[in-house]
Amino acid sequence: MTQNNYSDWTEQQWRERLTPEEFHVLRQAGTEPPGMGEYTDTTTEGIYHCRACGEDLFRSTEKFQSHCGWPSFFSPSNSEKVIEREDTSHGMVRTEVLCATCGSHLGHVFAGEGYPTPTDLRYCINSIAMTLEEKPMQ
Ligand SMILES: [Zn+2]
Repeated sequence: MTQNNYSDWTEQQWRERLTPEEFHVLRQAGTEPPGMGEYTDTTTEGIYHCRACGEDLFRSTEKFQSHCGWPSFFSPSNSEKVIEREDTSHGMVRTEVLCATCGSHLGHVFAGEGYPTPTDLRYCINSIAMTLEEKPMQ
């Protein structure tokens, strides 16, 4: 068994693994500025991994152009890869999306906005929370 038990990780361990910008988003539920993330308009085929733990979370096949300023997906690669929980910070009721493997903050999910996707969900994910593995998708 070599699996990391991320719930035992200390803040110091995360700070050593992540850059200050990554730490702010992933571990302090920060949000990168809109339109600034490296994957906002990326259409490259591949798999998006959690930048904190490496788990594969999203795929280019579910990515769509939402023009909201952040990478948007209509579904994770597998619903068990993410945790969704209510977030009432900043005076809003939103649904936060976290990595199920390491508990890091990824972004939020919004429903019923009318995007022409199979789910009408928009997983609005910070670029800095992910690493794209370029790979042809079937
Ligand atoms: Zn993770």
